[in-house]
Amino acid sequence: VTKARIAVVTGGNKGIGLEVCRQLAVNGVIVVLTARDETRGAAAVNKLKELGLYDVTFHQLDVTDASSISKLADFLRSSFGKLDILVNNAAIGGVELVGDPSFVEQLSGMTGPQRLEFKWKHLRETCDAAKECLQTNYYGVGRVTEALLPLLQSSSDGRIVNLSSDYGLLRLFKNEEVKQELNYIENLTEERLDELLETFLKDFEAGAVEERGWPTELSAYKVAKAAMNSYSRVLARRHPELRVNCVDPGFVKTDMNYNSGILTPEEAGSKVLAVALLPEAGVTGALFENGKESSFV
Ligand code: NDP
Repeated sequence: VTKARIAVVTGGNKGIGLEVCRQLAVNGVIVVLTARDETRGAAAVNKLKELGLYDVTFHQLDVTDASSISKLADFLRSSFGKLDILVNNAAIGGVELVGDPSFVEQLSGMTGPQRLEFKWKHLRETCDAAKECLQTNYYGVGRVTEALLPLLQSSSDGRIVNLSSDYGLLRLFKNEEVKQELNYIENLTEERLDELLETFLKDFEAGAVEERGWPTELSAYKVAKAAMNSYSRVLARRHPELRVNCVDPGFVKTDMNYNSGILTPEEAGSKVLAVALLPEAGVTGALFENGKESSFV
């Protein structure tokens, strides 16, 4: 078993994920930068090497692909025999672009309500996009975590950091029953979380998102992040030997929001790092916002 700390970052080829890889490497952690696309992933690793960061390895990982996940697990097992830090960063917005793709360029010249209106003219929350969003942002996190759990348990100080958002807060749910269930961690199981997400998709398909009290506007994204938060808390309870926490990076300038964010990926990356490198025996099952523990509700 390797002595140095080993980290895996999902969606490490750009945005916050790439910055987390960079900062982990700067802190002496051996980084396995993963990306679903080999070319984009290899290019990202080269960028870090150009900065003099050589302890960064690429491995392909599509978080929605079971065989890709198990290949990564095999690689980690045979190369290192353990995993110390897993950063579940990969995610998508859950919207489909309609019409002219050059809208992204046009968008960059706009601000305020005009920008928002223009944006929503070109984006649709379709059923397919909602499903893909749940698959990536919720089930993807679950599948990767389950597969890498034995390796995290082989570390003396295993950590999981899940990228969350204020869009995952339970205050966005008007359906009190669902909200309570997602917050009552003692009673919650993955099976129940799956059922709740199935119900959400049915309501989505029936056009009943608002009526049934689910979060509106980017609803799949919000529901997926809320479910991921609850999963994270369930996991923390079940595995007191690990530190399992969520981080809200703030509103960050990346492709996810067509570069409309305020913070730089570097600022967001340092928030993630602070949680990934928490002192041993630090808190678990928490959400961090601006360096402080914050409410899931
Ligand atoms: P980006 O869109 O810049 O990056 C997303 C990353 O996820 C890309 O590397 C993308 O790969 C990858 N990805 C998407 N789908 C998959 C998949 N199936 N398998 C593997 N990788 C995949 O977004 P951000 O950097 O902004 O987002 C990072 C995290 O931070 C996300 O979890 C997001 O929800 C969260 N967050 C971001 C905020 C922001 O303001 N930006 C605010 C709050 C939370 P590819 O290049 O191949 O598409």
